[in-house]
Amino acid sequence: MKSYQEWQQYAAALRLDGRAFIDGERSGAESGETFSTLNPASGQLLASVACCDAADVDRAVKAARAAFDSGVWAKAAPAQRKAVLLRLAQLIDDHAEELALLEALEAGKPIAECMGLDIPESAACIRWHAEVTDKRYDALSPSGSGVVSMITREAIGVVGAVLPWNFPALMLAWKIGPALSVGNSVVVKPAEQTSLSTLRIAELALEAGVPAGVFSVVTGFGSGAGQALGCHPDVDLIAFTGSTETGKRFLRYSADTNLKRVVLECGGKNPQLVLPDVSNLDAVAESAVAAAFWNMGENCSAGSRLLVPAGMKQALLDKIQSVLATWKTGNPLDPEVKLGALIEQKHYQKVLDHIAVAKAEGANLVCGGNATLSESGGWFVEPTIFDGVSPAMRIAREEVFGPVLCVIEYQDVEEAIHIANDTCYGLAASLWTDNVNSAHKVAARIRAGTVTINCFGEGDLSTPFGGFGQSGFGGRDKSVYAHDQYCELKTTWLKLD
Ligand code: NAP
Ligand code: MG
Repeated sequence: MKSYQEWQQYAAALRLDGRAFIDGERSGAESGETFSTLNPASGQLLASVACCDAADVDRAVKAARAAFDSGVWAKAAPAQRKAVLLRLAQLIDDHAEELALLEALEAGKPIAECMGLDIPESAACIRWHAEVTDKRYDALSPSGSGVVSMITREAIGVVGAVLPWNFPALMLAWKIGPALSVGNSVVVKPAEQTSLSTLRIAELALEAGVPAGVFSVVTGFGSGAGQALGCHPDVDLIAFTGSTETGKRFLRYSADTNLKRVVLECGGKNPQLVLPDVSNLDAVAESAVAAAFWNMGENCSAGSRLLVPAGMKQALLDKIQSVLATWKTGNPLDPEVKLGALIEQKHYQKVLDHIAVAKAEGANLVCGGNATLSESGGWFVEPTIFDGVSPAMRIAREEVFGPVLCVIEYQDVEEAIHIANDTCYGLAASLWTDNVNSAHKVAARIRAGTVTINCFGEGDLSTPFGGFGQSGFGGRDKSVYAHDQYCELKTTWLKLD
């Protein structure tokens, strides 16, 4: 791992290219417009990025359709698509330092996380889906001897992927892994704050052998490129990760245009439920800090509500604070840093506003609560814990998407389950218990797409990820289940003489 100084030198030497990537080539927006991407750790200009709009989206979609119809990718032998995607995974690994640096610079994420998790996991995700490519079977229906009735999955066509800024490379990999594996063409709209790693990965895909037009990137704003993709009459499916509010817009775009399929991965207000029988509070504390503060809490599955028995609360809070004290906040290029900058000024202000509302509503501030490192010019917020939170407070109901943990006391387990489920979301939950019966019984009653027991996390690449309620719609990311949403199901019925 490079030192802080070496990363800074590398950053200074990096040439950043913010042009879009359409039909196998870098190009500016047709309008010639660009927008500025800022470094969240300094507030300084990082790069100018092409501001694509409907005309550029149309060009990318036409190229995607032409590539799809030509069969160059969609009809290639599955083993051939696998080989290309394995090369892409390898190229991502080979360029890990460059891609990690881009993520740290544009998203404010700690470089140690980008190197240790985001980039290797992105490569691993593409590799996992690549491996599935030539191991999928279709089916025959049990329709008797007079017919041959085949049930097959076909690539859906042109997929529009609209991405968030919190895990730029990883969310890209979660979409393109399965979408490309089954043979689709993909047009990606990254979040406007984080276009650079996506653009580099598109170049690496071309180098790996993904044909021109099969994987394009239109950079720009949600209201321009995002909406144009959502409304395009020749896009067959939108795969979206982002806020619930924006996700709902894509359902409207679809209803108002061509009934394109829509798969949404949206927000969460995820409970961490500690049952009264737990003995190892050190393990809970370690995990609770990671759940709440990993990636500065800019994480849809962040465990932002800690539900604890009243009698255990103080002991657990003391341990959580000791763990949190070891988490250094600072410049994301410092390998010692565990908490980097928030994505942008508007979001930083929103997080600070949530903190102010929590104080006004009577929550007790245990630690943090302030902006920090403002001399850097960047958008840093102290990791913040509120105690004495009631389930009705805004801090307990709304997704903050920042480094804020709220601690809610409960009296009995029934009440705790009720509080855990008392949300419009249902993405993830963690549950702590020493009792295997309670583990199964309580987990079964929690309304969430993923329940992790005695740990925090999302499983691995073989487990589906997505949400109940307003956390998701229409499908799941990761695992073989993700492949189905990028396919249409076809029946071919042949009557025999
Ligand atoms: P966001 O504002 O909803 O944006 C997501 C994407 O949609 C961006 O590319 C955005 O473009 C685009 N967009 C925004 N407005 C649009 C519009 N009117 N029409 C079409 N596209 C539009 O979300 P975010 O702030 O980037 O990400 C944070 C959210 O993502 C949180 O709520 C978090 O919970 C959720 N998230 C969910 C998961 C999951 O798997 N469930 C994972 C990560 C994050 P621009 O922003 O560039 O304008
Ligand atoms: Mg946004």
